[in-house]
Amino acid sequence: MSNFFNTKLEYLRGVGLQRAQLLGKELGLFTYGDLIQRYPFRYLDRTQFYNIVDLHDDMSFVQVKGILRGREVIGEGPKKRLVAKVGDASGELEVVWFKGVNYLEKVIKNHQEYIVFGKPTMFNGRPQMAHPELEEVTEQKAGQSFLQPVYNTSEKLKNYHRIDSKAIMRMVSDLLKIALPQVTETLSPALIQQYGLMDKASALQQIHFPQNQDLLDRARFRLKFEELFYVQLKLLRQKDQRKVTLAGQVFNEVPTLVHFYKDIMPFDLTGAQKRVIHEIYKDFLAGKQMNRLLQGDVGSGKTIVAFISMLMAADNGAQSCLMAPTEILADQHYQGLKVYADQLGINLGKLTGSTPTRVRRELHEQLREGTMQMLVGTHALLEDVVQFRNLGLTIMDEQHRFGVAQRSKLWQKNPYVIPHVLVMTATPIPRTLAMTLYGDLDVSVIDELPAGRKPIVTVHRYDANRLKVFQFVRDQVALGRQVYIVYPLIEESETLDYKDLTDGYESVSRAFPEMQISIVHGRMSAEQKDFEMARFVNKETQIMVATTVIEVGVNVPNASVMIIESAERFGLSQLHQLRGRVGRGADQSYCILMTGYKLSKDSRTRLETMVRTNNGFEIADIDLKLRGPGDLMGTQQSGVLDLLIADLAKDGRILTESRAAAQAILNNDPDLARPEHGNIRRHIESLPATAVNWSRIS
Ligand code: ADP
Ligand code: MG
Repeated sequence: MSNFFNTKLEYLRGVGLQRAQLLGKELGLFTYGDLIQRYPFRYLDRTQFYNIVDLHDDMSFVQVKGILRGREVIGEGPKKRLVAKVGDASGELEVVWFKGVNYLEKVIKNHQEYIVFGKPTMFNGRPQMAHPELEEVTEQKAGQSFLQPVYNTSEKLKNYHRIDSKAIMRMVSDLLKIALPQVTETLSPALIQQYGLMDKASALQQIHFPQNQDLLDRARFRLKFEELFYVQLKLLRQKDQRKVTLAGQVFNEVPTLVHFYKDIMPFDLTGAQKRVIHEIYKDFLAGKQMNRLLQGDVGSGKTIVAFISMLMAADNGAQSCLMAPTEILADQHYQGLKVYADQLGINLGKLTGSTPTRVRRELHEQLREGTMQMLVGTHALLEDVVQFRNLGLTIMDEQHRFGVAQRSKLWQKNPYVIPHVLVMTATPIPRTLAMTLYGDLDVSVIDELPAGRKPIVTVHRYDANRLKVFQFVRDQVALGRQVYIVYPLIEESETLDYKDLTDGYESVSRAFPEMQISIVHGRMSAEQKDFEMARFVNKETQIMVATTVIEVGVNVPNASVMIIESAERFGLSQLHQLRGRVGRGADQSYCILMTGYKLSKDSRTRLETMVRTNNGFEIADIDLKLRGPGDLMGTQQSGVLDLLIADLAKDGRILTESRAAAQAILNNDPDLARPEHGNIRRHIESLPATAVNWSRIS
């Protein structure tokens, strides 16, 4: 769009400097472009009138038409209010205002016919409305039929500056009059034709002032398509450009790896693991830097894929590191991989926050000299003192746990050639979200569990049935199995949760005096945690009482029961993660979700979903719908989700279509140089320039 849309709002008729400043401060609206793109958040059907007698409590906003029959100011000071009666042929409605009483008292007229618009509530069987909108019925308005836009505004603007939704509506209406002739088409004629899109100017007119529902739907579709199209176009271009510009180390020698496959590897890879390893290998041969996201449900066997990738690096004289979000997980990776590394004569180190200084110094030196080929660790890896001789591959496990700034640090560990990057996550990201959050990454998916795994049986039990649940635990332990009991941990109320946990531990100890019980929580030192974990892993304890610190990655195949206390307090993805701690061995595993009787609707949906399905991707989709994309892990910091109109939870189809459209265009015309892509090129050029944002990549 042209410069016209950068005009400051103060120049719009009737706005002026003071109101423009308020709009900027309160609503983030500064320019014509901002205002025209602040779409209504809903519409009121002003075509339908209700009879007063039909009003009831469950209605949302409705309108009635009636004559004002008397009004009265009641009370004093803060209790002062204006009460009026509006009557139609069917009955009478009481309307009340607590604010703006003096003003209203002056302007509303007895015996005048009004359209009264608001949310009805019943009081002693009689309908009332607080703070309705009033509009005089005039000849002209009586016959009008339209959907009225409703705009977001702030309490401050509404109450102190009379900038309510209606005032914004008038500004938008004034703006559209002068702006529409300035609007240029942003999509190519071919796209408009292919997807049957409304033109840009009409879409803007209709999104604000729809003539009817059908035109509104078409306007919405057009604007969503455009928005998602440009997000995808940008991501796909970044991806392409990076492939062209960034060199990567080539790993084509695989002697040790072959040895590993033939002699040491304890099981056959699943088809999905093989496919993913092949995808990674192809990247390693390509001479371009790899940026790959590996998604795989809990227990799908990502670790071995990581290790095999690290072996490829080692075979080619490059170092690699595997970074985990928690000490427990780093330790487990280390213990698991060390066995293989030793047999292969590979020097594998571990670096975490609790590594003693002496050991640390030695590690640093070996990494600098290149005598240590592989490093497993936590955030401690990121410290500047950790320098590699030739870091060729960095792997981040459960990446959503890492902050943006931390991730970008790993890139800088090789000043000559940026290391290949593999990001692994067991939090299945819904496809729509992945396409946007990670649209510039290549994505691999392990969609198959190792053979012989039985689906976990999940049940929901109320606290009142605890005795039965405990009996079940006893039975399972008698069969030689182990049990997790998990308590919530929410960072803001750590003290409270800690109490839940310790109380829980005590009651579990009382219930099972004959058993050995481990406890792990965030307040313990790393040594204590390790000690307790090790006792559980070595089967010295039968029950592990823990907070969500065990959520990520921990692997004890003999554990077959996961009990989640106060399950209603966990998010869906988190429940699924926790459940993934069991079902790792050959035994039938169980997940028991404990709650009280009082449950919100969303909590019920979460619990029912867990009971119904083990499919992480399905769960992720439902999670996205329940919470919206903004709340999903890892998305908060991501600017890509600042969408004006599209909704990733609902607009998956449009997203897929627009991405395909963007890809098709780039395949034929990577630089958008062709005349038929002029609209698109010009639009991109008019957007604020953003550099390739490395830090966002992983
Ligand atoms: P996740 O993807 O959740 O990180 P892990 O890598 O921890 O899963 O693997 C879970 C368990 O499955 C481990 O005990 C691992 O040794 C085992 N495993 C991985 N791949 C296979 C396979 N192809 N066949 C049998 N067991 C496997
Ligand atoms: Mg894992």
